[in-house]
Amino acid sequence: MKVLKFGGSSVANAGNILKVIEIIKERSEGEQLILVASAMGGVTNLLEKAGEQSKAGDEGYQITLNEIGERHFRAIRDIVPLKKQSPIIGDIKILLNELDDLCNGIFLLHELFPKTRDYLLGFGERLSSVIISAALNHNQITTELLDARDLIVTDESYGQAQVLFERTDKKISEKVKEIDSHIFVPGFVARSADGNDTTLGRGGSDYTAAILAAAVDASELEIWTDVDGVMTADPNLVETAMPLEKMSYEEIMELSHFGARVVFPPTLQPVMRKNIPLWIKNTFKPNIPGTLICRDGKQNGHAIKGLSHVNHTVLLTLTGAGMVGVTGIAARFFSTLSREKVNVIFITQASSEHSITAAINKQDLKRAKNSLIKEFENEMALSKIDALQVDENLSVIALVGDKMKSSIGLSGKAFNALGKNGINIRAIAQGSTERNISLVVSDRDITKVLNVLHETFFLSKYKKVHLFMVGVGNVGSALLEQIHEQFDYLKNEYALEIKVVGLANSRKMLFDEKSVDLNHWKTDLLEKGEVMSRMAFLQKMKEMNLRNSVFVDNTASVSIAGLYEEVLQQSISVVASNKIAASSQYENYKNLNNLAKARNVKYLYETNVGAGLPILKTIQGMMKSGDKIFSIQAVLSGSLNFIFNNFVEGTSFSDVVKLAIKEGYTEPDPRIDLSGQDVMRKILILGRECGIPLEFDTVENKSFMPGQLMKMESVSEFLEALPQYDPYFENIRKDAERRQTKLRYVAELDRGKAHVGLQNADASQPYYQLDGKDNIVLIFSKRYSEQPLVVKGAGAGAPVTASGVFADIISVVNQ
Ligand code: ADP
Ligand code: ASP
Ligand code: MG
Repeated sequence: MKVLKFGGSSVANAGNILKVIEIIKERSEGEQLILVASAMGGVTNLLEKAGEQSKAGDEGYQITLNEIGERHFRAIRDIVPLKKQSPIIGDIKILLNELDDLCNGIFLLHELFPKTRDYLLGFGERLSSVIISAALNHNQITTELLDARDLIVTDESYGQAQVLFERTDKKISEKVKEIDSHIFVPGFVARSADGNDTTLGRGGSDYTAAILAAAVDASELEIWTDVDGVMTADPNLVETAMPLEKMSYEEIMELSHFGARVVFPPTLQPVMRKNIPLWIKNTFKPNIPGTLICRDGKQNGHAIKGLSHVNHTVLLTLTGAGMVGVTGIAARFFSTLSREKVNVIFITQASSEHSITAAINKQDLKRAKNSLIKEFENEMALSKIDALQVDENLSVIALVGDKMKSSIGLSGKAFNALGKNGINIRAIAQGSTERNISLVVSDRDITKVLNVLHETFFLSKYKKVHLFMVGVGNVGSALLEQIHEQFDYLKNEYALEIKVVGLANSRKMLFDEKSVDLNHWKTDLLEKGEVMSRMAFLQKMKEMNLRNSVFVDNTASVSIAGLYEEVLQQSISVVASNKIAASSQYENYKNLNNLAKARNVKYLYETNVGAGLPILKTIQGMMKSGDKIFSIQAVLSGSLNFIFNNFVEGTSFSDVVKLAIKEGYTEPDPRIDLSGQDVMRKILILGRECGIPLEFDTVENKSFMPGQLMKMESVSEFLEALPQYDPYFENIRKDAERRQTKLRYVAELDRGKAHVGLQNADASQPYYQLDGKDNIVLIFSKRYSEQPLVVKGAGAGAPVTASGVFADIISVVNQ
């Protein structure tokens, strides 16, 4: 014999009920079935609503009751042929009249006692069972409808009555023996030994099915619902949640205790006692296997099977010096809560015995608090125990898996991943079975925490990276293009899903949690964007509170660089091609780097020197591995190198500068390159990475640009005046040509000092052969003392800079 239970959404309307009938039809031949169903989806909530309205004297309860009636009549009309409808409609009407009388009574008395409430809520299953069993019979599946209240005996703990198993089992097995056909039993409802209607608790139809399955020693229990099985996390919050093939009773017990609604927790006890395999299956996809829950729930794979959570919880903490070594405090604490029927979700006690903490549901707070204050009144008056501490708006998250006990370092891994995402963990507990680690975090962080953990323990197929990008000029646009092009490759090969969730230029900003559409970001930014404000951008990043967030700065703006500190404070990594912060005052540079370390996030600016060339990484690697850098010689300006390489006989300096601008090799203001300022910043950053606390104004610069020219107000005035100075530049060029040298703007770091300036490089020098916009860096160190370590390659241009930024982004998440 098998027991099949169908949940609220599976029987929510005629269409769904017909799907249920198909499923039953397939299983009904050759084997007796016991069928259990919930109320039609949403009806129990409507009954609650009607009860509250009646109690409050609100006549609107009539409308709510009409809505309930209409849903059932509609289902009958849609399922049962017209000629056969009237007896069923009659049965439904009798129930609706009883319900109407009940609500009228509540309305008149302004009173809704727990006992009445149970009676009221039970109508949902009583109504649905009439319709579904009739529908079965009309589909040639002969079924006898039994009243669950005659079978399941409980105590009178209204709201969630306790089953008296001995009497219940006996009643069920005796009744079932009398029947040859299939049997239909409404879920959720029961009756006390004294004859009062009770319920098994919200979601309790699962339990009804398990009670029946255990009483008849069923070969299997199937719970049919609206998801593909037990998922690795709540699919409403974790998009990448996946169904589990198999799990143990203990695992599902932990998951459901910690909020995974898919199975009502008490359901497990009867099936476990009788060792009955339990299947969770999807009514809407009957052909996929679903999840099998059984004694040996082994599934190859990860130590953590799934995550679950309970939100809107409260932490209650009792502390006090007078608790140390005093026996019985914990016992009194928990027995008080138990007496008040407060469900304790989570417990921790400091090993000093100085404090006990319990997490409870918010709705139990008032009862719990009052009773605990009363219980410890004397101790509190004598200051042996401090006042009860209450922390609200929290969630408890559980990581669950049988294999957790044999895996080392899981909690470390979880805390590390959460720390990197700026999550504050309020309390931690590990179950003594080592099958569960639970964490308490703020309600506000719940989606982020679940997703971070889901990704960390490889329960997700992809790791999502959320980018907030400011600056869509040459580098920014090239980066967006590369991200767009690489999207599938990164997803398939590296399981990374890169989403641009915030995008801004100096005028507009645009946000989309699902990702800005990179096919037409330009028009979207222009047309749908809000007015850009730095503070609003920052605020929005905070509010979106997304995991693996990276702030990407491709501007040359001082004010955007000024945001990094706040961004890092939010535990959001920063990747910048903007050099301003790294070349600002040493204290700021150091502070940002320290802050990133303290927050366990990254501040990366590889492209500040040599665009996409791995220069900073190389120096950092050498330093970390204990090398000592003595000196650096470098050509660091791709723009100046491009200019000098193209400044040949027959050209003019001003034309070559304009060409460099056109090709996108210069800073937005080309004077920053021409003055050597850009090179100064770069050697400054290199020096700092070598551990020298350099300041910008200590970098010596022998500029070759005429002073008058550099004093121009704007870029356009400067470019207009530039041709007048062509003869001056031509002289410099001719001089170099005569000496058979090449003009190179060289930066040097030596004995703690940095200087930059124009040099004539002869053929023997490594800078001599340096094509186009290339950069070269020669590093002399303890390990590279005879021959320097050389990094050489294209050092300017939007595509290479963007690819360097891209590489930084990837290394933020792939650390
Ligand atoms: P039914 O009405 O069929 O009893 P429920 O709504 O009680 O269905 O339970 C199924 C729902 O549980 C799913 O639709 C899903 O939203 C939620 N849920 C929460 N956590 C999980 C999980 N880990 N696996 C599957 N479903 C989950
Ligand atoms: N109808 C009840 C509820 O909504 C019981 C159930 O569906 O399992 O809580
Ligand atoms: Mg349910």
